[in-house]
Amino acid sequence: MVTDVVSEFPSALDLVMGALEQIRDRGEKLPRASRTSLAELRQVRSALSITAPPPARQSLGVGTRQPPRGVADKTALLEPIRARVAVCIKCPHLARTRTQTVFGVGNPNSELMFIGEAPGADEDAQGEPFVGRAGQLLTKIIETMGFKRADVYIANVLKCRPDMPPGSSGNRPPTPVEMQTCLPYLAEQIGIIQPKVLIALGATAVEGLLGTRGVMRELRGRWHSHQDTPLMITYHPSYLLRNQAPSEKRKVWEDMLQVLERLGRPITEKQRNYFR
Ligand code: URA
Repeated sequence: MVTDVVSEFPSALDLVMGALEQIRDRGEKLPRASRTSLAELRQVRSALSITAPPPARQSLGVGTRQPPRGVADKTALLEPIRARVAVCIKCPHLARTRTQTVFGVGNPNSELMFIGEAPGADEDAQGEPFVGRAGQLLTKIIETMGFKRADVYIANVLKCRPDMPPGSSGNRPPTPVEMQTCLPYLAEQIGIIQPKVLIALGATAVEGLLGTRGVMRELRGRWHSHQDTPLMITYHPSYLLRNQAPSEKRKVWEDMLQVLERLGRPITEKQRNYFR
């Protein structure tokens, strides 16, 4: 019983801290949450995490990295961030209109991390990134590369679905303010996962990771760097849904072949020739 209370305490504390940080960010006066107090709470949290029972281990599949001995379990490290994201109200208009936040999915020990734009209607409903039509295409790409979807990690720049005017369907890209507000969460995710390779899917992911809005035609297919992590830029799967030409599929596929080479993964002759 006491153990249960202690093990629940860190996540409860994360929620409180997240709420306090948001109150502070909104510039509200009461209750007061100074940076020093929050840092002190964090210290308590770290101390308690050590006493909490370790979370269940997940199986390590293809393309995963065994956490070195002594290195904190990445799943456990992501949990407090997930908890803060779940109650985030930094963009009140998005907090009001979302069904739920969409944090990220997959294996946090993966060598490979895909970054998309923002949840769409399907993702908002299911709480998982890339589960709609574009997501199904992304899953096919991942599997054609020789991974299972659960082997890699998938996240978005925005954790909330960008709101749409009442009665209108479709999606809109995140605004610069929404992106700046939400990007620290992605930075924390990347900092914990530390993939060997990042893949930016489309212009919003590029802007989020590189801070520039460029021409996708010129940016894709080349290696870039996000804080010393190799970054491959490719088209968003929804671009491929709009442009079904085999030549466009081949471009994305060539970008993925470069990723496989960089990871030192075997590539079959059949894989090399897809979409030719
Ligand atoms: N498009 C994205 O960029 N992310 C999703 O999660 C779904 C569609």
